[in-house]
Amino acid sequence: MSNQPITRTCAPKWYDVPDEKWNDWRWQLAHRLNSVEELGEVIHLTDSEQQALNTKGLFRVDITPYFASLIDPDDPHCPVRRQVIPTARELDKFESMMEDSLAEDRHSPVPGLVHRYPDRVLFLVTTQCASYCRYCTRSRIVGDSTATFKRSEWDAAIDYLKRTPQVRDVLLSGGDPLTLAPKLLEELLARLREIPHIEIIRIGSRVPVFMPQRIDQEFCDMVAKYHPFWMNIHVNHAREITPELRAACDRLTRAGMPLGNQSVLMAGINDSVHIQRELVHELVKMRVRPYYLYQCDLVEGAGHFRTSVSKGIEIMEGLRGHTSGYAVPLYIVDAPGGGGKIPVMPNYVVSQAPGKIVLRNYEGFMTTYSEPADYDAHAIDYLDAQARKRLEPGQSGVLGLLEGERMTIEPAGFSETHLRGAEQHRLNADPGKWQPLGIGTADRPLLTDVQVAEKINHEVE
Ligand SMILES: *Cc1c(COP(=O)(O)O)cnc(C)c1O
Repeated sequence: MSNQPITRTCAPKWYDVPDEKWNDWRWQLAHRLNSVEELGEVIHLTDSEQQALNTKGLFRVDITPYFASLIDPDDPHCPVRRQVIPTARELDKFESMMEDSLAEDRHSPVPGLVHRYPDRVLFLVTTQCASYCRYCTRSRIVGDSTATFKRSEWDAAIDYLKRTPQVRDVLLSGGDPLTLAPKLLEELLARLREIPHIEIIRIGSRVPVFMPQRIDQEFCDMVAKYHPFWMNIHVNHAREITPELRAACDRLTRAGMPLGNQSVLMAGINDSVHIQRELVHELVKMRVRPYYLYQCDLVEGAGHFRTSVSKGIEIMEGLRGHTSGYAVPLYIVDAPGGGGKIPVMPNYVVSQAPGKIVLRNYEGFMTTYSEPADYDAHAIDYLDAQARKRLEPGQSGVLGLLEGERMTIEPAGFSETHLRGAEQHRLNADPGKWQPLGIGTADRPLLTDVQVAEKINHEVE
């Protein structure tokens, strides 16, 4: 199947371009569109789009001829178009908008390497993409052709990985790693594979979607040398799934690469149960497993794409049980401020009592599961202790509470704050005299807990 010729997804502007050029990814990169004049030859631009394209300082625009050919030239609502063509709404500011909403720079031990989770890292290997998504979460660094990562920074990142044995999983992203020169990419993979504790390597890439021509047999043969190698692509709407993308995914899976998909939930693009169901069905048909559906980040220029979180929960309600489990992604809110990915889903546990749990299914059918009275959670202790010894220690987190390692998890500064006198306790609240937590003044000193208790008792009397 992979060798069968496919009809070209190609707008009239390029009908005369011979196949060998059109199918060459370097030609696609070199002929990207970014101005009102160039885009105007392919699409009937709206006033809002023209205004944005003529505004200086907006996030970079560049669209491959292949991807531009997927746009409906006459429909401003086209879901493909809205992902890559800016509109004047990018100029809207919104409350809580941030430059680095995931605080990635703060979690970087060396430039370009984000080490947020105990056993895996995100390695930003380039600032370049094949085309630029208007909602890019990394627009602070992506697209800048003058400030791409330097070789010395790669060296520093590899050096960090060599001396950090708890890292067993390296995720290459950017920018898009598949825009790197093939030799550079292979050199990087070879250097990572030399590090014995790195078990899996993965790539997050939108190149298969923007420029499927890059996924040639040579590329597939190259990555197959570095297994176990995983890949996530990025499709947001079923209209992006073309014969070219199908053929690229087929080559990748035949080269042994498990494929996942990450998409972003966006207003007016894919914030509908039916559009999402269509998307995930098309994905599993080409053996791509929906991995994450992300809530749109609080990033500058992307405010108009944001949906409520309840919309995401509603979509998950419409997928789980209604379609194949393989087709259901996890819905993720990436915590603003750098807390990492938080899965969000409808509640299926309705209630609990000792020995019983009440659950509901996707249809609203309610059932009772009786828990075993004689379950011995310690029968595994012997094997568990051995497995623990084989693993690097991770973050104990909430699991540490369940396992009895600790009783509480406290925010930084918690104990200092709670040693203060509770002047603003509800029992002696006086809105006129309210003062911020933990701040004493000469005439209103902080009280000890005992003094507070005495004061409250006195006032209550
Ligand atoms: C998303 C992400 C990862 C990978 O997370 P998984 O849930 O394992 O896919 C790793 N590091 C950072 C900083 C990330 O943002």
